[in-house]
This record gives sequence, structure tokens and C-alpha cells, in this order.
Amino acid sequence: MGKCKFWTLRSNFQGQAKLSDFQLVEEDIPTNLKDGELVCEALYLSVDPYMRLFSDWSEVGKPVVGEQVARVTDSKNAKYPVGSVIRLSSGWRSHTHVKDVSTIDVMPELGDLPLSLTLGVMGMPGMTAYFTLLDVLKIKKGETLLVSGAAGAVGSLAGQIGKIMGCTVIGFAGTNAKVKWLKELGFDHAFNYKTEDVGKSIDRVAPDGVHCYCDMVGGEISFQVIKRMRDHGRMVVLGSISTYNNSTETTGPYLFSDILTKSLTITGFIIFNIREKWHIGEKQMAEWIKEGKLKYKETITNGFEHMPEAFLGLFSGENTGKAVVKA
Ligand code: NDP
Repeated sequence: MGKCKFWTLRSNFQGQAKLSDFQLVEEDIPTNLKDGELVCEALYLSVDPYMRLFSDWSEVGKPVVGEQVARVTDSKNAKYPVGSVIRLSSGWRSHTHVKDVSTIDVMPELGDLPLSLTLGVMGMPGMTAYFTLLDVLKIKKGETLLVSGAAGAVGSLAGQIGKIMGCTVIGFAGTNAKVKWLKELGFDHAFNYKTEDVGKSIDRVAPDGVHCYCDMVGGEISFQVIKRMRDHGRMVVLGSISTYNNSTETTGPYLFSDILTKSLTITGFIIFNIREKWHIGEKQMAEWIKEGKLKYKETITNGFEHMPEAFLGLFSGENTGKAVVKA
């Protein structure tokens, strides 16, 4: 009988998560499946910033949440025979016993594209970028779009979609190498927020201000951007990674007077709330990749046992593009 490994929370995160907050646990892989059930083995697993928040609503001892792409290794379900590849949110597990196949996500049409993209450009981060720009911000040709967290999984795609839609795109990222890559992707302006003054950089390249802001980071960067939004500017709050490790709640200063006097629209958006629409975005992303209009990068960590390191790397900027673990 083989063994399944899975990562659990050993202790709730206090501030920055630590390796010692995670525990690797083993159990037997079930063999006597009931009708309709299956077992799958992880091929690629996703690490994402939202997992930092998971500790706040999870109990110690619970498996860490997350999506993966897996191959079916045992099956009593005709729809998913042995060898089928599936995407599911079963957490940081090497093997999953699926009792209810309705929990399996629909796989995107990948064609020749690599399987791991199911967790990136053809998955949750890609869909976030696509629907944020087209459905939430409703970005228009000629507008100035600013993206923070720009060299990450969502940001690098959001900026490129902005270019496809005919916008001027400004990106902020945390290293010179990332800034160089953003320029290669076609961003009009890119800056290292650790070495350059965010506000002055925006003033220089967008003296009339920013129409749309795709916010991944919150904190000081967003403070500086909101100050430089144009009248009737639109901002979507996707994440706030600069505050995820704070142990106390941020208490401002909040820019209510800027929101009022500029008549800004600020929208929070969670991609999992529009799961039924993903197929539309997946089709378009695949076409843009095929046409050479959309490029992607993955930072792949080898080995299921390195899931915590890959996850922690998100908070120190180790990844460029999508962070994925190859099991
Ligand atoms: P990324 O691939 O962008 O990885 C995280 C990146 O954040 C790091 O590489 C690092 O890049 C940057 N970062 C880390 N700490 C800070 C900090 N203190 N200040 C500024 N930047 C920091 O992750 P994703 O693209 O997957 O996610 C980006 C954001 O979008 C996250 O906040 C996430 O929670 C959110 N998100 C929201 C979704 C939704 O549905 N609302 C869906 C998916 C993601 P650098 O070197 O540039 O600092």
C-alpha cells in the first residue's frame, strides 16, 4: 500500500509565516474504492498569496488549502479513468481520494500548452487578470493603467492585457531583473519600487494621472497611486500582499478625501465568485498565447517536500510570473 503525504498547519502564522508552521503528514492511500470514487496523484501544485490568509480561518492540524493538477491513478468512475488529468482544490496533498467528483474543476482546453499553465495563465491567476481588466475595470483604449505586483502571476498578465487593449501600462515590481522583464513584455514604464520613489515615478511618466489601477499590494504603493488617480478613475483591489503579514490591523491613513473629490470607483473582486465564466477567459488567453500577444513565465520549485519554501518565497519576491511546485 502506497503512502499519501500532505502538509498541515502546525501552528497559526504569527506575522511572516515560517517553515516550522508547517508539518508533513503521511497516511495510506486508499485501495478499496467505492463506485464513483477515484484517487489521483499530484503533478503540479499551486502556491498563492491567499494561502497566507488561510491560517486566520483555519485550525491547527488542518491540511493547507490549494489547487493542483493531478493524474488519476485508481478509479471506479467511468468519466475519469486511470490516466485522466484533472484540476482540483484538494490542498497540499501528494495524493487525493476524491469521493465526490463534482468537486473536480473543469480543465481548460490546453492544446499544446504545458499542463502547469492550468494553475497559471490558463487558471486562477490568468482568469483574475482577464476578468479584472475586461469585466471589472472595463479598460478602454488610450487609458493609462497602473499595475502593482506587476511581475507576478496576475500582474504580468494584467499589464500585457492592458497593452493588448491599447493602454499605456505602468508596472511596479521589486527587483531590477523583474523591471527589465516587464519592459520586454511591452510595459511602457516599469519601476523598482524598492529603489525608486513610487510617487515621483508616476508623476514623471503620467503627469495627468492614472485612469485605472490594478492593485495587488495595498500599503504605501497604493497610497501613492490613489493620490495620482485621475477624476473618475477606477481601481480594483485584488490583493494586499504588503499587509498580509501584519499582525495588527492597518488603521490608515485612508484617502477618503481623494476618493470623494476625484469621484473614484474602487471595487474588490474575487475570481472564485465567477467560476462559471472561466471558460470564456481561458479560450481568449489560449488564443493570445498562440498569437504571440501574451507571454508567461513560471518559477517552478521541484519536489512536493518544498511546498512551504515555495510559498514563503512569494513574500520575499522569489518568484517571477507564476510560482508552481512540480511534485
Ligand atoms: P505573485 O506571483 O505576484 O507573488 C507575490 C509577489 O508579491 C512577490 O513575487 C513579490 O514581488 C510581491 N510582494 C511580496 N511582498 C510585497 C510587498 N510587501 N510589497 C509589494 N510587493 C510584494 O502573486 P499573485 O500574482 O498570485 O497575486 C498577487 C496579488 O493578487 C496577491 O495580493 C493575491 O492575494 C492577489 N490575488 C487576488 C485574487 C482575487 O481573486 N482577488 C486572485 C489571485 C491573486 P516583488 O519582487 O515585486 O516584491
